[in-house]
Amino acid sequence: RRACAFATRAHEGQRRASGDPYIAHPLAVAHTLAELRLDCAALVAAVLHDVAEDTGVSLAEVEAEFGSEVARLVDGVTKLGKMQWRPDEDGDGHVSRAEETAWAESMRKMFLAMAEDIRVVLIKLADRLHNMRTLQYLAPEKQRRIAQETLDIYAPLANRLGIWQIKWQLEDLAFRYLEPEKYKEIGKSLKLGRRAVREEYIERVKSILQAELERHGIQAEISGRPKHIYSIYRKMQRRGLDLDHIYDLLAVRVLVREVQECYHVLGIVHALWHPLPGQFDDYIASPKESLYQSLHT
Ligand code: MN
Repeated sequence: RRACAFATRAHEGQRRASGDPYIAHPLAVAHTLAELRLDCAALVAAVLHDVAEDTGVSLAEVEAEFGSEVARLVDGVTKLGKMQWRPDEDGDGHVSRAEETAWAESMRKMFLAMAEDIRVVLIKLADRLHNMRTLQYLAPEKQRRIAQETLDIYAPLANRLGIWQIKWQLEDLAFRYLEPEKYKEIGKSLKLGRRAVREEYIERVKSILQAELERHGIQAEISGRPKHIYSIYRKMQRRGLDLDHIYDLLAVRVLVREVQECYHVLGIVHALWHPLPGQFDDYIASPKESLYQSLHT
């Protein structure tokens, strides 16, 4: 509450491009982080993340008021905001795709190295998410630049950190500005697939599976999720497929307590529904880089 009052005073009279009072932005950032259940210091720093940069308030004042932990976080976020981006490495006046990719990778490493405290990166990601959500108020050229940066740096970063909720939102928002036509097209065909029918289908699968798992004495948490638009697009690109040949537009996830139970559930699933050849991955035996582990079928 003290941080909110402090930040409201500091941003007094400032407005976002949307016309909203500026304080709406740091509050939205803190809200996202509260949903991710970050601790109090991180939420306070989120509320204050733009005061050192954009107002007359000094870091020393933040420290005097909220302590050194919060001040360090605010300072870290401010420094991340000042990073240079998109260098022309060979100086030929043209930034090639390879240069961009190499630079994006080094940025990602630098981000993680700089952020001795990972909360700094989380605040920065939530900051970018809200900026992407309010991107429509900026000029088209700026929209494209920020969307590309989001796709090249922030979304992969969220992915590496395993924060799926932020990753998919960043990707879909960026995609909407970079490829508006394709975004609309996929969004439309998904709706033509009749959302109600798809939801009913997923509910049916869940209840069949639930009953079968209970019969085997397995306690599990079963949930369903729709695939997000950018990831559908990527898969279509990667495999040269059209929408009709993407098999995981819908997915059901089963969470169990023991690793062994994963394989047990897999057996039950394959007994209920015939598996598709070549559509199985064992990320338990071979975890992803992020250490993510699961079975996909
Ligand atoms: Mn901000």
